[in-house]
This record gives sequence, C-alpha cells and structure tokens, in this order.
Amino acid sequence: MNSPVPSCNCSLTLNKKGSRKFLKMSFPVHYGNYSELETHEFIFHFNLNNEIIRVKKKGDNWSHPHEWLKRTIGNDWVYYSTGGYSGVFDATGEYYLPNFTYPTNNILGGNPFLLPQVLDLTDNWYSMLQELQGSVSPLSKSPYDSKSLQHPLDIFLPHTPQALEKKAENLFEIIGGRISVLPPDARHVDYNLVPLTISRGCLYKCRFCKVKNSTPFTELSRAEITDQLNQLKLLFDKDLANYNSIFLGEHDALGVTYKLILHAVEESSDILQLHRSNILGSNTFFFGSVDSLLSTPAELFRELDRLPGNTFINIGLESADQATLDHLGKPIQESNVRDAFQRIQEINREFGTVEITSNFIMDENLPSGHYPKILELIRDSQQHKKPKGAVYFSPLAFDRPSRSKLFAFNRLKILSRLPTYLYTIQRL
Ligand code: SF4
Repeated sequence: MNSPVPSCNCSLTLNKKGSRKFLKMSFPVHYGNYSELETHEFIFHFNLNNEIIRVKKKGDNWSHPHEWLKRTIGNDWVYYSTGGYSGVFDATGEYYLPNFTYPTNNILGGNPFLLPQVLDLTDNWYSMLQELQGSVSPLSKSPYDSKSLQHPLDIFLPHTPQALEKKAENLFEIIGGRISVLPPDARHVDYNLVPLTISRGCLYKCRFCKVKNSTPFTELSRAEITDQLNQLKLLFDKDLANYNSIFLGEHDALGVTYKLILHAVEESSDILQLHRSNILGSNTFFFGSVDSLLSTPAELFRELDRLPGNTFINIGLESADQATLDHLGKPIQESNVRDAFQRIQEINREFGTVEITSNFIMDENLPSGHYPKILELIRDSQQHKKPKGAVYFSPLAFDRPSRSKLFAFNRLKILSRLPTYLYTIQRL
C-alpha cells in the first residue's frame, strides 16, 4: 500500500510486490518484494530487512530515467547504465551495463562514479534519509515501547552505512573471504545469489589471472557446508525470501567429489528454502575447469537434471591454442581444451536443465593461432546455430572501454554458432 508520509512530501510503500521472474527488458524491472520511498527528488528501495538496495535521482540531473544505483550484499554500489550504445544487449545479453567502483575488464560504458550526482547518492543517501526523518511527524506510539513515538522512516535508520559494511564483512567471514569473481551466467539472476563455499582455491594458478588466490585447491566437509548454510540463513534473514539462487564457490566447485556438489545443492534447498522464494524457479551457479569437467562422471549431470531448478556451470577454457595457453601461463594442453569443449556440447545436448558455458580470453596481443582455433570450435565444429551453451569472451586487460576490442568481439559473435557474449568480471 502506498502511503503519503505526513509533512515530508514523500510517500512510502511497504512490501511492494515486484516481478516474480528475472526478465530481460529494455526498462528496469525490480524483482522480489521491497519497500519504496519516493520524494520529489529521489526514489529509494529497501529490502525485506529494511536495508537500502537501490536508489536513483529523478529529473534532468540524472543521466537517464532508466538508470539506477544498486547496492549488492557485498556492499558494493553498482551503477546500471543504458550504455549509450544500441548494441549493449547483443554484446552482453542484458539491456543494462553494470559499472563498478573497482577495476574490472569492461570494454563498454563509461565511469558514472565520477559524476557528482552519482557520488552524492552513494556518499549521502543516509544523511538524506535522516533529514527526511527529521521532517516527518511521528505517526503513532511504537508497539514495542509505549513511551516512544514511532516515525514511519525509523525502520530504515538502524541500517547505517557502517552497519551495512559490517554485515558484508560478516558474510565474507561466514564463506571464508570475499568472492573475487562471479560466473557470467549469474547475469540471469542479476547477480542476486546466496554464496556458499564448497571448495577453496583452484587447480592451475594461471599466470595471467587477476582473480586467483594462493590457496591450494581444497574441498570443504559436509559439516562445514551445513554450518555455513545455517549462518547464511540467519544473515540473510527476512530478505532470504527474495533469493532463488546459490553460487557454489569458489573458483572450481566442479573439482570436488560429485556427491558433495549434490549434497550442497540439496542441503541449500532444505535450509534456505529457495523454492519458496518470492521469485519463481531456482538456480545453481558454479565454476569448473578443464580437468574437473573431464573427470566428472555423467552421474552428476544426470542427478542435477533430475533435481528441481536449473544449473549453470562456467568453464574457463581461455584458449584452444597451445602457444596462447603457454603465453597466458595456463598449465593445460590444447588437446584437453578441445576434449572439454566437445564434452560441453554433449552435456548441453543431453541434459535439459544443465547448461555448461565457457570462457575464452580476448586481447590484441595474443599468438596468431588463438582466434582461428577458437573459430574451429565455435563455428566449424558446429553443424548449426545452437540456443544453449553460451561462449563468453573475457578481455584480458583491466582498462577502459575500447572500440577496437568491441569490433573484434562483434566479428567473433557474427561468426559463432553458439550464443556469444562479453564477460565483465563482477565480484561479490
Ligand atoms: S583462471 Fe581459473 S584456474 Fe586459472 S588461476 Fe584464475 S581462477 Fe585459477
């Protein structure tokens, strides 16, 4: 219900019902249930724990009426821009470009965090709320304390920027550290997922990689996974009702014994009750590697296909050219990359709710065999166009937008017989 708030010239809608599906639309779609506070200048959104999750300015002093700032559970602000480029959807599979406050490998978009109106919101949203609250008449006696008067905006004020930062730190403590990169497939749920660590580290420690850590690859125990889930349930609290997806961390969850993956998916479903979410369906996302994919029995994919929900597994192939793999410092053989790509096609054909996607590196200074050998896989070896099994190109350099890289990507996309997109690194 939308209620005008006395003497504040603003209105507050509690528990507003957003979309029950993640939709790819050219206008902003807000999903799940949330509260909306609208003033003549701003719109603020809060989750079911009354923590700020989105904000935008109204009027001419804002780049585009469809653009928003979103706050993630890792307490990052992300600016969603329309991109000012009509090919955004073709390049990324999404209508909006996420822009981050930290270095990443994007080749589209600008730097909205340099704009004063954007900085004003990320820096001052809380004092704006305090000012609004100061101008509001008390509504009624608090039901909890008969002496104190309750203001309608009181519910948001305990969630200060410091409290939100602390909550993000608690999240990282529970899962054993910040997640340096999420799979590109997480775009299907706008990167809104519950992270659950089932393994740490990765197998290869590639020289080129900017998101790796020094932890040797290790698998967590069932007890550690259950303990994390119980703590995550408490941390997400009421807003858990707005989540229908999990990410199994961190860099190569496919590398654990396949029964542990199934256990993590089933235990998450029991403890987090994702199938009861305000958003329909459920999804599991994780990463895999060439070796973990080649050694995983078909049993895993069969079982995942049998369980409710969809599974997206993203495999870092990087290149099918030995000279490029050596140049990148990725200690695998090109023949294994070709075998993994072949296996990906088989799994995508056979199991309807499992989609394996792959990543390749893009850069102007790679050995000459890199692109021809990728085209052998994504064009020559495919009889016809396929709707499933996306291929992502990940720019190697962390720098600013580049027209020449975009041109190179568009050429690959036109030639590819698989859905082909850019992969911009996003953390949690
Ligand atoms: S690319 Fe993947 S396997 Fe290689 S170091 Fe990075 S996280 Fe590890």
